[in-house]
Amino acid sequence: MNEYDSLKISQLLASDYELTQDKEEADLIIVNTCSIREKAEHKVYSLLGHLKKLKAKRPELILAVGGCVAQQEKENILRRTPFVEIVFGPHSICELPDVLKSLETRKSICMTELKDDFVIPFVPFATKDDSDAPLKAFVTIMQGCDNFCAYCVVPHVRGREVSRPSDLILEEVRDLVSKGVKDITLLGQNVNSYGLKQKTSKNFAQLLREVGAVPGLERLRFTTSHPKDLGMDTIDCFRDIPCLCEHLHLPLQSGSDNVLKRMNRRYSKAQYLEKIAALRDAVPEISITTDLIVGFPGETDEDFEQTLSVVRQVEYEQAFAFKYSPRPFTRAKDFSDQVPDDVKSERLTVLLSTLNEVAMKRHSRLVGKEQEALIEGVSKADPNELTARTRGNHVINLRGSRDLIGTFRKVRITSASYHSLRGEISLNP
Ligand code: SAH
Ligand code: SF4
Repeated sequence: MNEYDSLKISQLLASDYELTQDKEEADLIIVNTCSIREKAEHKVYSLLGHLKKLKAKRPELILAVGGCVAQQEKENILRRTPFVEIVFGPHSICELPDVLKSLETRKSICMTELKDDFVIPFVPFATKDDSDAPLKAFVTIMQGCDNFCAYCVVPHVRGREVSRPSDLILEEVRDLVSKGVKDITLLGQNVNSYGLKQKTSKNFAQLLREVGAVPGLERLRFTTSHPKDLGMDTIDCFRDIPCLCEHLHLPLQSGSDNVLKRMNRRYSKAQYLEKIAALRDAVPEISITTDLIVGFPGETDEDFEQTLSVVRQVEYEQAFAFKYSPRPFTRAKDFSDQVPDDVKSERLTVLLSTLNEVAMKRHSRLVGKEQEALIEGVSKADPNELTARTRGNHVINLRGSRDLIGTFRKVRITSASYHSLRGEISLNP
């Protein structure tokens, strides 16, 4: 979500500013922040401490802090780091170009109003030439969240759930595809409730079918699905929409009914497993990934065992596992039965090794098989290697000429590890 917002901000400013990767030469540095866990928030202040030195060297440099930490901390950021000039929340990104134009040196501003009807506008993707469009892009379909999971800061810093009108979404998708984007991920905190609040709007499955029919779109994905709202109409889309990739991110958070209840997730372990069974029934080869939290207040060893048991049962291809982190404004931060950090750490270690085990098991099944892969670029770890991605979202490392970047190739998988695959480009494309 932040990556998408960062891109929007850079596109909104494209007529006045040019992007640079070198902070030494920047006239404006915008720190787009995340407050989902405390660690992300700490990183903001340590980065700002570093940027203070740049500002001391070049007082004309403008520093701005956006995103969810900005929304959460508001003027506190200006008090704690007075060398920052602009603080803006997720609903204020559109004001940024005007504020920058009218900003007098050393005057600061804090824009953190949450608006009930905020919708990210469509901004045509600005490219310098035809070759610099990305292969993959996100498109936000809804903002905010109404679910109020007991641990989560999102509803408090991104406001109420608002679905973007479908014509805006389709316009953005068509624009990206026309500029060469091949793989689009529709984004929302809870995509399955798309359009439900605005009774006249399309629902998520209808939107998916319309986006899936955009000519030239090769790959379509979406995230995140809330298990309580994932319906058969969406599951059927995996069978019916040719460009919809066989991958679903379905956060479990915990495998224990007690913990799920206290988290306010509104599904049980059995209901979650029923949805997985329906998905695998409809699309046997689907990859399933998830998010998990260990050490939620009150989580016992037995509760944690339940999480491990679901992980073994579902055999996730990949997962993001986190230690519970108390967040401002949330209910769970005031629960009296917080789990000690050493217990959280121990559980995280056990969980990660179980996740690696099951991922290895699933990835091994692909060895010897052919997969359709989009060659995405040069490997970060080895400049002589390329990286590619399957429809199931597995990363494949392979040898090949850089001319192949941006093309689809049949790749035979030769070996597997828990985090990626190795492959060879098949001779018959
Ligand atoms: N809307 C999405 C996820 C948003 S946040 C959903 O409902 O799944 C991404 C992930 O961060 C969550 O799935 C959760 O696993 C994790 N997370 C959120 N708040 C957290 C907290 N306070 N401590 C630890 N992990 C957290
Ligand atoms: Fe947070 Fe729950 Fe909303 Fe996801 S569904 S953003 S976890 S409150």
